[in-house]
Amino acid sequence: MTEQQTQNPDPKPRIKTLKPLLGFLKPYKGKVVIATVALLITAGLMLSLGQGMRLLVDQGFSTGSPEMLDRSIFIFLGIVVCLSIGTFIRFFYVSWIGERISNDIRISVFNHLLQLHPSFFETNDGAEIQSRITSDTTLLQTVIGSSFSIAIRNIIMFFGGITLLLITNPKLTGIVLATMPLILVPVLFFGRRVRKLARSSQDKIADIGVYVAETLTNIKTVHAFNHQSIDEDNFLQVTQNAFRVAVYRIRQRAWLMALVMMLIFGAIGFMFWVGGHDVLAGRITGGQLVAFVFYAMMVAASLGAISEVYGDLQRAAGATERLLELLATESLLIEPDESAPILDEKASSIHIEQLSFNYPSRPNTKAIEKLELKIEKGAQLAIVGPSGAGKSTLFDLILRFYDPQKGAIRINGVDIKEMKLQQLRERIAVVPQQPSLFSTNAWDNIRYGKPDATDEEVIAAAKAAYAHDFLKALPNGYNSFLGQGGIRLSGGQRQRLAIARAILKDPQILLLDEATSALDAESEHMVQKALEHLMENRTTLIIAHRLATVVHAESIAVLDEGKLIEIGQHQELLQTCPLYARLAALQFREPDAIVEGREDRVEQVEAS
Ligand code: ATP
Repeated sequence: MTEQQTQNPDPKPRIKTLKPLLGFLKPYKGKVVIATVALLITAGLMLSLGQGMRLLVDQGFSTGSPEMLDRSIFIFLGIVVCLSIGTFIRFFYVSWIGERISNDIRISVFNHLLQLHPSFFETNDGAEIQSRITSDTTLLQTVIGSSFSIAIRNIIMFFGGITLLLITNPKLTGIVLATMPLILVPVLFFGRRVRKLARSSQDKIADIGVYVAETLTNIKTVHAFNHQSIDEDNFLQVTQNAFRVAVYRIRQRAWLMALVMMLIFGAIGFMFWVGGHDVLAGRITGGQLVAFVFYAMMVAASLGAISEVYGDLQRAAGATERLLELLATESLLIEPDESAPILDEKASSIHIEQLSFNYPSRPNTKAIEKLELKIEKGAQLAIVGPSGAGKSTLFDLILRFYDPQKGAIRINGVDIKEMKLQQLRERIAVVPQQPSLFSTNAWDNIRYGKPDATDEEVIAAAKAAYAHDFLKALPNGYNSFLGQGGIRLSGGQRQRLAIARAILKDPQILLLDEATSALDAESEHMVQKALEHLMENRTTLIIAHRLATVVHAESIAVLDEGKLIEIGQHQELLQTCPLYARLAALQFREPDAIVEGREDRVEQVEAS
């Protein structure tokens, strides 16, 4: 299945596509059987209710005997009690199955997504995937937990009702069947229209929500640009649109209600009129007529219900198709069956051999080209280069978020493709430029890479990352909620937390993306000290955006347009590498060194 297909689901899915859901029903066979039996029994009892009514009228009222009336009422109530118990069991189990299965599908889709290659999320819209997990599964829950059972129940009642109608009075049945389309067609027509309008009414209400949210989140801009009166006019327009659609829907609904009233009661009156003559002529009993009207209404109602849930079933088929597509998408990162035998030491060597890579969405542009780098155990290599040189891409390739088209990356001599992803990533820790914190407390954020760490280990890591003091000072210490994405911390504090997380993970390889870029002098000093702790005896790659941080580095690799230009130490590179010299001149404010005609590069460097 291609990713492209994933985005274009079949607009007219067939009910058949619901079949794979049976697989999800399997573990709950017992409950499915109970629900089915209850469903069959309640449908049967519902049908027998008509006979109960017939008994009530014929034996209860017509015979004039109070004993017969008592007996008939007793039978009638018996049926009603059984029907109620059956309905309870049916409703409970069918709804339970609906909830359980939609949850199971949610879980398997989410778990599957977590295992997919990261580039899947570049070509597939995150919001769309999110809606598949939430709305599509909710739709399935409605269908499995109600529509499906409504459909089956009504199919049984439709055929059962018709059979009983024929048995009760074939002549009247003929009339009913002939007139039924006259009632159903207009009702279904208006019904469908009202439903469609209800949906577009909801869309218009959603527009109102979007407008309010956007305006309020940008309220300062609105005020600063004196945009209030324009927003008032726009909002009036948006609400007027919603109102217009609502009025149209209300009018159609009013028509529908009046029509239903007239047709249904007209039809009942007609049946009583025709049937009444039969009763008077003694061809049928009063009870038979009551039962007949009851069945006729049941048949009409079940037909209406079937046509109503048919749309739901079709939408559910579409939802199932989309969810199954997600489940069928395979990760492009193929893992070996077994973990590779690899040395487990405190540090690892990284050998990058003739590495070439282009992003799948840009087949003609190489992000990394024939890159050759050797970083020995415990060594530190700084990577510098203008914006877009491929520095972050190199980190992504080392973490195997993507597979290179050519070449290999070896850790302790083993190609990372021969390692399990878990095995590879457990020996690496990343401190990104913008650390990703999660909306929870400091404990969970630091423990992210080592969930079983003890409190003492977490505190020791925080101390080593110079994060302990500020965490302790938070209102609830380490238990304080850090806000969405750690918004309640400063940039420097977030970075120190990310460093604490890396220290706790105790990795063999460290990938640092200029962890000190957003800091003032004092926090930079703290973070630098934290990093020194972290880098001790570990193989480290540091992307340095500011050369001040690499002046004393053991080794610096200069990258440009995905290629390695030069490797050496600061002083050497100033002599041998014009690009490095230019970057240095720019950053250390020596304007003479800006070579004429290279302003474009200058802009890129600044952007970086
Ligand atoms: P910076 O210093 O600005 O972070 P960088 O050296 O880290 O830059 P990369 O992010 O590795 O540069 O990007 C290398 C090239 O790959 C750039 O041309 C960039 O536009 C492209 N690129 C990066 N990410 C993607 C992606 N997900 N899909 C397609 N192209 C990408």
